[in-house]
Amino acid sequence: MKQSSHKNLIGKIPDYVTHVTQTLEKAGFEAFLVGGCVRDLLMGREPKDWDITTNAKPEQIIPLFEKTVYENTFGTVGVCIPKYVSHETSSLEPSNLNLVPNFIVEVTPYRLEAKYSDFRHPDEVKFSEKLEDDLKRRDFTVNALAMNSLGEITDMFEGIKDIETMSLKTVGAPLERFSEDALRMMRAVRFAVQLGFTVSHETMEGIVASASLIQNISAERTRDEFEKIIMSAEPAVGIGMLQKFGLLKFIIPELEEGIGCEQGGAHLYDVYEHLLMALQHAANKGWPLEVRLAALFHDIGKPRSRRPGTKKAYTFYGHEVIGARMAQKIMERMKFPKKVTDLAVVLVRQHMFFSDTETITLSAVRRVVVKVGKENIWTLMNIRECDRVGMAKKEAPYRLRKYHAMIEEVLRDPISVGQLKVDGTILMKELNIKPGPRMGAILNALLEEVLDDPTKNTREYLDRRVGELDQLSDTDLKSLGEKAKEAKEELEEEEIAKLHKKHRV
Ligand code: ATP
Ligand code: MG
Repeated sequence: MKQSSHKNLIGKIPDYVTHVTQTLEKAGFEAFLVGGCVRDLLMGREPKDWDITTNAKPEQIIPLFEKTVYENTFGTVGVCIPKYVSHETSSLEPSNLNLVPNFIVEVTPYRLEAKYSDFRHPDEVKFSEKLEDDLKRRDFTVNALAMNSLGEITDMFEGIKDIETMSLKTVGAPLERFSEDALRMMRAVRFAVQLGFTVSHETMEGIVASASLIQNISAERTRDEFEKIIMSAEPAVGIGMLQKFGLLKFIIPELEEGIGCEQGGAHLYDVYEHLLMALQHAANKGWPLEVRLAALFHDIGKPRSRRPGTKKAYTFYGHEVIGARMAQKIMERMKFPKKVTDLAVVLVRQHMFFSDTETITLSAVRRVVVKVGKENIWTLMNIRECDRVGMAKKEAPYRLRKYHAMIEEVLRDPISVGQLKVDGTILMKELNIKPGPRMGAILNALLEEVLDDPTKNTREYLDRRVGELDQLSDTDLKSLGEKAKEAKEELEEEEIAKLHKKHRV
C-alpha cells in the first residue's frame, strides 16, 4: 500500500470539513476524506461534495456534533455545519440551528464489501475496523483514495498513477465488480466523460462481457448516471461509449435504429450520428437537460418513417410525430420527471416548424407558439440550431433573421383564450351565453379566428361573431371547432393514428 504526503492540498479543504475530521480525531477516531473529493483535489478540480470515512460507528459519530441527520441503512451520518457562523455556533441554541442554512458533510463508517445476490444491492451492510476494507469496496482506483488531516494519502490500488495517466480501472477484477453492482459500468462511462479519462482495456472488456447485467438495475439509478453523461461536456462521446460497450441497447435501443440509417439530401451523416452531433451542439452551448434530450431524440422517429422518395432519395413523412411518441415512451420508461419529459417531447414534436421556409405565414408561426408555449419558443429555435449542425447546407442567415423577426412579431399577438377581448363574464352578462361547453366552444372558435388574424381581436368584431356563432346548433358549433383544428394540423389525427399503429408506437 502506498502512502504519500500532499500537504499542499490541505489549504484547499474548507474549514467546515476540517472541523468534522478534527472533531472525530480529537475524540480518538480515525477520519479520512475519501472518494471523489480526494480525486478532485489531486486533479485540481473543485470537489462537488466532501465525504468522510471513519472507524467510528453512527452511535459514536452522532453525539460529537450539534446537528446530524441519520436516516439510512448504509450507516451514513450527515453532519450539518451552519453556514456563515461556524465559529459562533456554540452561542446558538440548538433549536435555532434549524433556521440557519447548513453545509452537510457525509460521514460513513468503514464498510466491508458484502455479498450481492441481485447485482445491485449488498445483501447486508457490514461495518469494518479497517480503512483498507472500505477502500477495497469502492468502484474505481481513482475513487479509492483516502486523505487524512495531515494531507497524507492512502493509495492501495495505484489510483494516483491512474489519475496521472487519466485511466479508469476497477478496484479488483472487472467481471467480479460489475457482477456485484452492474451500475458501475455506467459509472465508468460517466466518470470517463466527466473527467476526460479513457476506460482501461481490461475494464472495458469487463463491461462488454457484463453489459446485459445492466437490466437488473432500477430505472432511477440508470437514469441518474445517464443524466450525468448527458450533462457532461462530452455527451456524444459518452453515448458513443455506451453503444460500443454494448450498454446502449439495454438503455435506449431506439437510438441504435439510427445506426446506418442514411438520410440523403443535405445530410452528410446517418440518423444516429446526426443525433449525437445535435446533442453535442446543445452541450457546447451549455443548454439544459430538456434541450439536450430533445436534441438527442429529435429525429429518433426517422428510421421508422423512412420511405423511398421520388425527388429525394428518402422521405421521412411524419417522423416528428412518431419521434415524439418514441421520446415520450423512452423518457417515461427511464422515469424522467414529467416536466422534463413534457418539454422535450413537445420540442421533438414541433422541431419541423417552418420547414417550408418560403410560404411561412405569421398565423403559422403563431400556431407554433401556441403549441410550444411563449416561454419555449426560443428554445425551439435552439433545437433547430442543433438540427442544422452537420448538414451540408447551413441555414441562411437572412432566413434565420426572418424567423426571428416573425417570432418577435407574433409574441405581441394574443395566443390564448385569456387574451381575447371578450371573456366568460362578458359572454354571460352582456350576451346572455350560459357557462358550459357551448361557451368554451365559442371562445375557442374566436381564438382560431384571432390566431389567423390578430386585428380581429376587438369588442365590435368578437361581439358580432359571438352573436352569429350562438345561432349555431350544438353539433354545428362542435364540428366548426373540429374542422378548424383538422385544417390546421400538419397531419390529420387519423393519419397519425395509422402511423402509430404501423410503427408500434
Ligand atoms: P461526484 O463528483 O459525481 O460526486 P464521486 O466520485 O463523489 O463523484 P459518488 O457517486 O458521489 O461519486 O460516490 C462517492 C464515492 O463512493 C465514489 O468515489 C466511490 O468511491 C464510492 N461509490 C459510489 N458508488 C459506488 C458503487 N456503485 N460501487 C462502488 N463504489 C461506489
Ligand atoms: Mg460525490
